[in-house]
Amino acid sequence: MNVNDSEKMAGLLESRGWTQVYAERSASLFIVNTCAVREKAQEKLFSYLGRLKRYKELDPACTIVVAGCVSQLLKEEIRRRAPFVDLLLGTNAYPRLLEYLDQREESDFRLSRHWNEVTSLHRRSSFSAFLSIMEGCDNFCSYCVVPFTRGREKSRPLSLILRELDELSAQGYKEVVLLGQNVDAYLDPEKGGGFADLLEVVAQRSGASWIRFLTSHPSKFSLRIAEVMARNDKICRALHLPFQAGSDRILSLMNRGYSKAEYLSLVKAIKERVPDIAMAADIIVGFPTEREEDFLETMEIVEEVRFENIFSFLYSPRPGTKSSKMEDDVPPSVKGERLIRLQERQKEIQLEENLKRIGSVQRVLLEERNRKDPSQTVGRTAGGRVVNILGPCETGQFADILIDGAGPHNLKGRIPL
Ligand code: SF4
Repeated sequence: MNVNDSEKMAGLLESRGWTQVYAERSASLFIVNTCAVREKAQEKLFSYLGRLKRYKELDPACTIVVAGCVSQLLKEEIRRRAPFVDLLLGTNAYPRLLEYLDQREESDFRLSRHWNEVTSLHRRSSFSAFLSIMEGCDNFCSYCVVPFTRGREKSRPLSLILRELDELSAQGYKEVVLLGQNVDAYLDPEKGGGFADLLEVVAQRSGASWIRFLTSHPSKFSLRIAEVMARNDKICRALHLPFQAGSDRILSLMNRGYSKAEYLSLVKAIKERVPDIAMAADIIVGFPTEREEDFLETMEIVEEVRFENIFSFLYSPRPGTKSSKMEDDVPPSVKGERLIRLQERQKEIQLEENLKRIGSVQRVLLEERNRKDPSQTVGRTAGGRVVNILGPCETGQFADILIDGAGPHNLKGRIPL
């Protein structure tokens, strides 16, 4: 979401004649778009602002703006710790970025209940595009700041989504990623269709060959979505379905709205409909009161589902959330040891699955030259697995790649002769 918000802010600035520069010393305006989901990202902001302060000292006319979730959540702290920041923008304020910049006026931090449309975007890629369909969250998981930083769920009207989709098709985009905190909670404010309806229309209408979507919530995921995936080849067989924890007691403390058995039975039903689906998940380790037996239930889900990828994090309390009032009682050493065990097992699973792909031909979207080794090209399969391809290839195109090597995190391949 943040990348897409940055694209929108960059688009607005470009429409006013601003140009993006890549060397900090050449910039006269800095906009730091922030994420508050984890404490680490928040602390990074303050160390980055320390660096920007030096530019401000060298050129007092330069402007520093902090936008996004940390600005929304911790405006007082930013003002106190970084008084040289010129402007703070709340998460719903960026559509009026130009106005706030002109007037140097404090942004409105009220969270909107309605969709804010921004049409000018500076996209980071010429072949893969984010397409926002909803924003916000009504779930109030006990550890999460998103409902406080992004506000309640608001869906973008289907007519506006399709207009942007048609523009992307006309521009020749190869991949479109439908974006929202809970895409499966999408509800067209004009005609009332849900996410499965939207996905079907997008798959049939889009000129892009690959359609993806991020992120889904297990308690909102209807099997109609899996059925739409099964009958539309353009929809990548990939699903990010965070489960966060395996123990029912912890899931209940997290206010996730499902049990371990319900999650596993949902995954089973999805796999019955889309057998070749690549699953990914977010997992939190060390939630307050997590015992060894709770953690082992998390490991059981990892074992049973055999995810293509996981995003695993140590629990850290976030300001204003319900869980921040609970004692953070799992010692850091125990949290760290569990995280390592989880990641090591997942690495083994990924290697086992990747080795099975040697000798197969995989359709890959070629994304960029390998930064460490420019003689290679980096691509991604429909399931999201990174492939390092021997030889420079034209990026932004699809290619059928013969897989001839595998590691836990990526595949190796070449264009077959
Ligand atoms: S579903 Fe839960 S974790 Fe996800 S954004 Fe909403 S509150 Fe946060």
